[in-house]
Amino acid sequence: MATNFGQIRDQLTDFNSFGLMTTLIPPPPEVQQCWQWNTDSSEVQLRTNSGNLLRIPSGCPIFDQELQEFERYIPRSVLSNDFASTPAGGQFTAGMAADIQEFRVDLSSNPGKPSTTRIALLRMIYQADIKKIRMREEGGRLVVNKITGQLQPYDAAYPQPNITTTIPNTSQARNHLDIIADINLNGARGFYGPRSERCRHGKCNVTGPCVDQSATVEYGPDLLFQPRKRFTCEVNNVVYLLYCNECLRLGLSTTYCGETEEKNCHQRFGQHTYKFSTRSLNTRFPKGTNERLVALREVFQGVLEGDEDPDRVMQDPYSHFTLVHPPTNGNDHRRYVFIDGGFPSVRSRKLCEMKFISFFGAVDYNYNTHSGNLNHM
Ligand SMILES: [Zn+2]
Ligand SMILES: [Zn+2]
Repeated sequence: MATNFGQIRDQLTDFNSFGLMTTLIPPPPEVQQCWQWNTDSSEVQLRTNSGNLLRIPSGCPIFDQELQEFERYIPRSVLSNDFASTPAGGQFTAGMAADIQEFRVDLSSNPGKPSTTRIALLRMIYQADIKKIRMREEGGRLVVNKITGQLQPYDAAYPQPNITTTIPNTSQARNHLDIIADINLNGARGFYGPRSERCRHGKCNVTGPCVDQSATVEYGPDLLFQPRKRFTCEVNNVVYLLYCNECLRLGLSTTYCGETEEKNCHQRFGQHTYKFSTRSLNTRFPKGTNERLVALREVFQGVLEGDEDPDRVMQDPYSHFTLVHPPTNGNDHRRYVFIDGGFPSVRSRKLCEMKFISFFGAVDYNYNTHSGNLNHM
């Protein structure tokens, strides 16, 4: 029987029977082959060349078998780009969506200088992290060729870089040939299957390196979790796991489970470096990063000397990643994994969060090792 790909997405997003059991089942084998994903915060509707209307919920894959050989999924970040509605931008999106291997974008079809059109187009393509394409310039046109082979992994020779289209510390565009070279290198490399992904934004230097991009995440000794969807740090409306990589290295497990609402992950995760995760602790401790840090240091010192910690001040991501395992040599020990997202309601998100708090929080906080569950429950 032919696989019903819509059913797989329905199963991935069944928020009624949603919960631990569903999410802890390893992802269906078909999704391991997927390289095109809707990592946007909301659902995308896609009319394919063969006339099907696909509903792709947030975090879900588009299967190769649902598209014609050269037909490509166009991420919303491309479609919402102002340039996409210009004639040259339209030639690009139409060419990507069509079942043709090669197409051209005429740089003189937009008003203004072709070189301006060229840089705007290249920026849009590179920033959207578009895979399996190879480009070249040919007499006032950009030729786009769709690759059909397998994506190569990122490796030491070409690690996964942040995507930048301007010269560092300026707003001036990089040389177009350099951007084309990067589009081609990056377009030949990528991941298959579900996992958390860094967003690749040029300025994502703090959160990005903290995202654990593994297909199977080890968050404690012999403790494994397999994501079933794909999200990046640009999304909101997700439930995430935060674990300590240094504790893991020491044979310990320290975890925290949280949710994001209106704040995207950059903002939410950043809070773990300057405030507590509970309102009561933030109220009790003075405002201001420095004042708070000084007061927290006092508590930690006391704990090290044998004091009790009745309010469990140390059992918090802020305390753990500021004093127990602060960054060493610029290496942040926080690791983030997106558990699930695209929730249809606040209630379903809270329910998911609660279930995972009790699941990941199975290791009680231990005042001898300063590790364990960082959620106050
Ligand atoms: Zn990011
Ligand atoms: Zn730790």
